[in-house]
Amino acid sequence: MLIDQQILRIPGPTPIPPSVERAMMQPMMGHRGKKTSELIARIRPGLKRVFGTEQEVMILASSGTAALESAVVNTVAPGEEVLVIVTGAFGDRFAKICKAYDINTHVMEIEWGNALDPVQVADFLKEHPAVKVVLSTYCETSTGVLNPIRELAGAMREVSDALLVVDSVSAAAGAETNMDAWGIDVVVTGSQKAFMLPPGLAFIAASARAWEKIEANKQPRFYLDLKKHRDSIVNNTTPFTPAVSLLFGLEQALALLEEEGLEQVYARHELMKNMTRAAFRALDIPLLAPDEHASPTVTAVKPDDFDAVAFRKVLKEQFAVEFAGGQQHLADSIFRIGHMGFCSPVEVLQALAAAELAMIKVGKNIELGAGVRAAQQMYLQEGEV
Ligand SMILES: *Cc1c(COP(=O)(O)O)cnc(C)c1O
Repeated sequence: MLIDQQILRIPGPTPIPPSVERAMMQPMMGHRGKKTSELIARIRPGLKRVFGTEQEVMILASSGTAALESAVVNTVAPGEEVLVIVTGAFGDRFAKICKAYDINTHVMEIEWGNALDPVQVADFLKEHPAVKVVLSTYCETSTGVLNPIRELAGAMREVSDALLVVDSVSAAAGAETNMDAWGIDVVVTGSQKAFMLPPGLAFIAASARAWEKIEANKQPRFYLDLKKHRDSIVNNTTPFTPAVSLLFGLEQALALLEEEGLEQVYARHELMKNMTRAAFRALDIPLLAPDEHASPTVTAVKPDDFDAVAFRKVLKEQFAVEFAGGQQHLADSIFRIGHMGFCSPVEVLQALAAAELAMIKVGKNIELGAGVRAAQQMYLQEGEV
């Protein structure tokens, strides 16, 4: 194995483009100075485009979970009921945050590997008019499911005034997100997934009607108070010290997204998803999520005749290729391949080729090259992205 090489194909943190790494090496600067304000001013429009919103996108120095918590404490008023749609480990995290604040929490459990059903949610809301906020996950990273958020927003609006809060941490900048057009009230994401940045930043935006609620909400909060963050960012500053080096990187990451074009970025992720799924299908190895709800950023594979843990170990130790395991009850039975952010179709081929070798090494009988060939054919078929 080549010393000092690692091929990170996990669903975050993801590899960092060299130009983003170089941008983050710029000398530190005072966070209240003109240069920082100018940097934030340059960042704001790009973030709005990724979110598909005219609203301000606020930048927190935190991991993604702080922004999930911020969404909860800002939108849910004391005594209110909420519905959390749990399609995997990250939906479960939303439920845990709500319960930590003693919020009256209804949990809609969907079997892991399946997507939420907008009609089921609408029916639930008709029966439970006291529910004021619905919390859901766009890409459920633990299962590789992309939930039908656009349809959910549409179905909810017909029956309820509840706010829709969406965890888009592993989707934004990899899967199309149109917050305003789709009618999503709060979108949350983080830096270390499709944004091509290290961990440490979270981004959050709220709709006009969510802001009305946030402004009137008596729920105590301080660092996570979105009013403070909005009042600062409209003046190109932050209420507390920003993660300055990460902001340098963010400006460059947004420039890369802009240069490639968001449509093209989404098409590249779709292609990488299709290549990955074609490979495992050709090898006759089961995929966890169904085609119609498969995420463009992460694919979960559920082998039925070889050991996922031993396979990942060989892959990492002999080929320096890292796949993720599962979470909670799926920890040892699935593996997950991240193909998001700074990742190209040719790197998908590389990972698949190494995966085939690792399968042979753990005793899985496959026709060498069959998966890679299917992925290559998919590439040719879908056009060169
Ligand atoms: C990665 C991720 C998070 C954020 O996790 P942190 O470790 O707090 O950054 C939240 N939701 C989803 C869907 C994720 O994939």
